[in-house]
Amino acid sequence: DSIANQIAAGEVIQRPASVVKELMENSLDANAKHIHIIIKDAGRTLVQVIDDGKGMSMTDARMAFERHATSKIKTSEDLFALYTRGFRGEALASVAAIAHVELKTRRAEDEMGTWLKIAGSKVESQETIFCAVGTTISVKNIFFNVPARRKFLKSNETERRNIFTEIERIALVNPDIEFTVIENDVQTMHLPPANLRQRIVQMQGKGINQQLIEINEETTLAKIHGYVSTPQFARKGRANQFFFVNNRYIRHPFFHKAVMTAYEPLISATENPNYFIYFEVEPDTIDVNIHPTKTEVKFENERALWQILMVTVKESLGKFNAIPSI
Ligand code: ADP
Ligand code: MG
Repeated sequence: DSIANQIAAGEVIQRPASVVKELMENSLDANAKHIHIIIKDAGRTLVQVIDDGKGMSMTDARMAFERHATSKIKTSEDLFALYTRGFRGEALASVAAIAHVELKTRRAEDEMGTWLKIAGSKVESQETIFCAVGTTISVKNIFFNVPARRKFLKSNETERRNIFTEIERIALVNPDIEFTVIENDVQTMHLPPANLRQRIVQMQGKGINQQLIEINEETTLAKIHGYVSTPQFARKGRANQFFFVNNRYIRHPFFHKAVMTAYEPLISATENPNYFIYFEVEPDTIDVNIHPTKTEVKFENERALWQILMVTVKESLGKFNAIPSI
């Protein structure tokens, strides 16, 4: 069923950036503290992720590439993960169907590690090796056996930007994790462990520090925290605007309007503020009945949350603008 595998793979893996995202998510699931991302030719020839997470046993290593789609869905949090992070249990199987994959992994309790080579879903070799605790997965020649997909890839510049978009979203919800990116043998990004504010500065440059206003609100519907930028720093054109729910990136045009409404009296209609806004909600108050590759999510109490968000942002901007008493 290698054709079926390739088609299913296309749902989860659309471009090198999807590989980067899935491998990084797995490293985080394995409690890695340091994650290295190595990329060649915008991910076309190589995406490699090295982590210091818990590693896999030899059996787990082989199992990891089996399709076991929905078997892991036990809670609504799992279901939420399914729709925001691709089909659970499909990622590695999908990658293995459309690339040359190498896995090196070892658990702390094992003396020796496992080295697997897979191409087009077939295990080509399996050896026992000495290696560090953790997991290294190398994905070479993405879509080597799916020419249509390979042709569909965009310029290196675009594919590279997609990769960085994924890295940025993940780095912004895992400030305590260290990330290193090496592109074509040159280190292009290094994010040491940090708090959220520091991580935003690491990603966006020192200039952003003075414009960050903290927001923090707790209601029965949601906890909302993060940073918005002072109105003075709003700029024409694109800004850095992020919503996350339960530590996953989402797009939310309706909530974007809430933020813009809070800024309305303070900035002109063509200006855009930066914001980094994190919601925490009960997983079962989110509608996950949407396509897995999309990042849209519908909240049960969307109107009420709109109001809460608008007021929260507005109040924090007001506080910032208030003239401090002597
Ligand atoms: P999922 O993450 O949804 O379970 P994946 O296909 O992404 O599915 O991964 C399959 C399994 O392989 C994971 O559940 C995990 O047990 C194992 N695995 C994958 N990557 C790693 C890693 N970096 N460290 C440890 N285990 C991993
Ligand atoms: Mg995964």
